[in-house]
Amino acid sequence: MPIRVLEQTVAAKIAAGEVVERPASVVKELVENSLDAGASQVSVETRGGGVSLIRVTDNGSGIPPGEIETAFDRYATSKVSTVEDLDSIVTFGFRGEALPSIAAMAVVEIVSCAAGESAGDFVSLRNGTVVEHRSEGHARGTTVTVRDLFRSVPARLKFLKSTITENSHIARVVSECALAFPEVRFTLTIDGRSVIRTPGTGQLIESAIEVYGLQVARDLLDIKGSDDTWQGGNTTAPTVVTGMVGSPGLSRANRDYLSFFVNRRSISSRSLAWAVEEAYQGMLMTGRHPVAIVNIAIPPGEVDVNIHPSKAEVKFRNERAVFAAVQRAVRGTLVEMAPVARIEDTTATYTTPRAPTRQLWTLPRTDANTTALPMETAPTPLVSLPALRVLGQLDSTYIVAEGPDGLYLIDQHAAHERIVYEKARRQQEQRQTDVQGLLEPVPFEVGPRQDEVLRNGYRQLEEFGFSIEPFGDRTYLVRAIPAVLDGKDWSAMVRELLDTIIEGGGDNWSEDIAITLACHSAVRAGQTLSDEEMRELIRQLEQAAMPRTCPHGRPTVIHLSSRQLEREFRRV
Ligand code: ADP
Ligand code: MG
Repeated sequence: MPIRVLEQTVAAKIAAGEVVERPASVVKELVENSLDAGASQVSVETRGGGVSLIRVTDNGSGIPPGEIETAFDRYATSKVSTVEDLDSIVTFGFRGEALPSIAAMAVVEIVSCAAGESAGDFVSLRNGTVVEHRSEGHARGTTVTVRDLFRSVPARLKFLKSTITENSHIARVVSECALAFPEVRFTLTIDGRSVIRTPGTGQLIESAIEVYGLQVARDLLDIKGSDDTWQGGNTTAPTVVTGMVGSPGLSRANRDYLSFFVNRRSISSRSLAWAVEEAYQGMLMTGRHPVAIVNIAIPPGEVDVNIHPSKAEVKFRNERAVFAAVQRAVRGTLVEMAPVARIEDTTATYTTPRAPTRQLWTLPRTDANTTALPMETAPTPLVSLPALRVLGQLDSTYIVAEGPDGLYLIDQHAAHERIVYEKARRQQEQRQTDVQGLLEPVPFEVGPRQDEVLRNGYRQLEEFGFSIEPFGDRTYLVRAIPAVLDGKDWSAMVRELLDTIIEGGGDNWSEDIAITLACHSAVRAGQTLSDEEMRELIRQLEQAAMPRTCPHGRPTVIHLSSRQLEREFRRV
């Protein structure tokens, strides 16, 4: 092919691809425009994962008459005019690329009414070109409607994930904006369901309640004010770290609950995440992550936001000083305000109150057995374990046993996880679940991202013995739980499951449920067991299909053979 300059529409689509990666990117750009326009109310509505429809309405300044078509020209912006302006950016936008990029990828309509105007301006675009322009009534502010996103770019459409995943990204974008702007009233409606609705009172805790739910918000601590003298570059100005952090008891399975804002711009930063986790050192178990909402206010000249088209990453002039300030602020808050923290087992890190689980009624398929380690018959094992004789318990964590060929140390938690996991899978397959009815139905509240996942998957929980059904906005009613969770914190189990699914993509619910169920119901390390209980656990492990590893792949048994012992004692 000879070298040619690309046609304008082709070039526009290529450039647009950098800004508009997925539906959530469109939501982000439009909401940021609303915030730049000084809106105190922003409503977001989406359908079909944002592909069919995205509509953002604000009550901001509006676009002055006569400028609305220009707003769709590439590099058209009202926010920056000189190169020097780039050093003092206080708005989200400055590249003038969002509207033309979106218009290159979708069918767009915009109605905007600037202050002092009697009517609004309506413009409709296709393939980035204006096809209609007329006046239309509209309150002060702007409504942008985006339809059929990526319809003209099938390659991009193909790369989108499921509607659930795209909805979850959209919910995340709006959640982050709600956390960064507690003074703005946000609403998010997905496929007609109200997902987020913040009051706009200016109180961060109120946004946090909406985004994370009451149970999480209750355990958030205000970051105590920190004014560090800024010593980067030539300026001396303070870096101020504000926000909220979770008390150490509020740990999470992934980093989804860490939000960072630099001058109210949501950013992702591995090093900042690390700085916060460092501050929790000794307070959280390895593999667990804290909850934190961290706002860093810093002179605009000290940070470069123009290193990536989607502006998700920023560059600090003095990175070290920023990290140190964040770490000091978080650590200071935890030390001063958190109760003395202990490292706890994962299953005990939640502070959710236990639901009443006294048996009141029983579902027909139940043969609920209330001993800690119920008797169970299992299929013939494939990778067998020899018959073992229990000698005792070490450290309240390991069972010491003797076998035909030496000494066996069994990790009681890992072993019990394996047993519960196999039993849960077997019962699920045979539709024979041991169920424990709750004394009364318990409402279970989740955050917007969790809701997207749970709404589509709660029926799979039922296969494992939960009786759960949607009950209004982001709330579910739980009437029964798997019998193995009796006396355990089942809500912590479901929360962890949802986080795991969000992180992993949720292509294997059954597996994720069985693993989380096993982890949360298994005996813990540190729990003293009676001889009878240890014997029963070993007996069941002997019968497991894969007795040598727990469902996470950790070993359940360490074997020291007679031969090894002889060698160690120099008997041979
Ligand atoms: P940028 O935000 O980088 O300036 P955009 O393409 O996102 O570029 O928007 C172009 C221009 O359109 C903005 O600079 C602003 O003047 C105007 N505009 C876009 N959305 C809105 C809105 N919701 N309210 C008021 N003005 C808007
Ligand atoms: Mg913009």
